[in-house]
Amino acid sequence: MSKLIACFLSVFLLSCNNENESKSLAKVVQSSELKTLENKDILLQTASFGNSSTKKTVKPKNFEKIEKNILLGKFDYKKDSNFSIVSSKYSSKTIYLRNEVLLKFDQMYNAALKDGIKLVIISGTRSFNHQKYIWDRKWAKNILKMDSISAVKEIMKYSSMPSTSRHHWGTDIDLNNLENSYFEIGEGKKIFDWLVENASKYGFHMTYDNQEETKRTGYKMEKWHWSYMPISEQFLIQFNEYINCENISSFKGSKFACHPKVDVIKNFVNGINTDFKKIINVTE
Ligand SMILES: [Zn+2]
Repeated sequence: MSKLIACFLSVFLLSCNNENESKSLAKVVQSSELKTLENKDILLQTASFGNSSTKKTVKPKNFEKIEKNILLGKFDYKKDSNFSIVSSKYSSKTIYLRNEVLLKFDQMYNAALKDGIKLVIISGTRSFNHQKYIWDRKWAKNILKMDSISAVKEIMKYSSMPSTSRHHWGTDIDLNNLENSYFEIGEGKKIFDWLVENASKYGFHMTYDNQEETKRTGYKMEKWHWSYMPISEQFLIQFNEYINCENISSFKGSKFACHPKVDVIKNFVNGINTDFKKIINVTE
């Protein structure tokens, strides 16, 4: 059945056996902007979008100017037609992702399943307020036993300052488990090895790799955090262009965003896996 749907999708885009089938989906989505709304709906139905009956449209790959509030997570993604709820087959929680990200995740999920791997999304898009909630909880715990700058650095081993999380962008997902050790043995290792081998074919890359090996700055290794790079890279470029550390504000400890020992944009927002720089195209 899924093959039939894939074929049907290809018919409207190109053709079932056309070598161009391996073109990036991003390009396909772009070209679909020229097609009718009905065609877009067909494209989206293949991605199993939640239980919502609302028709959604896919944004083209290339973003023009992204609003500052969107870069900073200060918008309501639940009311944004560029976002959809992920299907209950991928997650037991109510999680939203950008439509194109969800479309590619669906393809990755199905490929993984064929190899006996079950991917589960445990976190997706988060707003500024959601990230602030996480931050405030950790702040309250840490500030009791250390000074402010130490508390900030302790939280930032794994958690972002509100406004600087890639989860604001709708492009990044946490998969299966939030412990690195889970991915080191047994089922977890099988999942991780599969992702390392295959996720890039769908545009997903591990964002926070092993700092001891790569010497990158910022957060510690997160084997669970994967980013849909064709869009997140554009967000990162625009974040660097339009956001400065003074825009990171309105939470406890936010004054340290510009502190040289933190320098959140240089060290954390840009402290990512450098493979991101090498691989832009999604092939499938
Ligand atoms: Zn994450």
